Amino acid sequence: METPEIQPWLFQIEPYPGESLSHFLGRFRRANELTPTGLGKMAGLGGAIARWEKFRFNPPPSREELEALAVVVGVEGDRLVEMLPSAGVGMKLEPIRLCGACYAESPCHRIEWQFKTTEGCDRHSLRLLSECPNCKARFKIPALWVDGWCQRCFMTFPEMVKHQKAVD
Ligand SMILES: [Zn+2]
Ligand SMILES: [Zn+2]
Repeated sequence: METPEIQPWLFQIEPYPGESLSHFLGRFRRANELTPTGLGKMAGLGGAIARWEKFRFNPPPSREELEALAVVVGVEGDRLVEMLPSAGVGMKLEPIRLCGACYAESPCHRIEWQFKTTEGCDRHSLRLLSECPNCKARFKIPALWVDGWCQRCFMTFPEMVKHQKAVD
């Protein structure tokens, strides 16, 4: 495959440990004022970006697609693979889930929260939230998490920790 050229005019951003592809792509697009379509065009991926931001990985991103994206976002292809579910892991497309304690430490959506097998946060021994505990609004897709608060009542994600139940 032909190697696309590095595009030095783009702002690069550092991924957070465990960050989901959706959250990372949203941050990258905002830093560069790109729409999902615009980024898809730049990477030669058509409508894939919008699908991936919704965790629609069927069919899963190919290695070629990830390498093409890697060049544009300035992150290694292997690092992008870490933002995806491992092969064979079932994904919950919705609801989007959150551990507020994790978010307080590292402001990102973690890919493992959407695994079907994930019951709670191992790090904090807390159940995950699947809606705002204050107003019951569902969380937006992580690509749209700009401010780290509920889009309806503005309760911040770190504040939601006190509503998370312990894993029993
Ligand atoms: Zn946590
Ligand atoms: Zn709310």
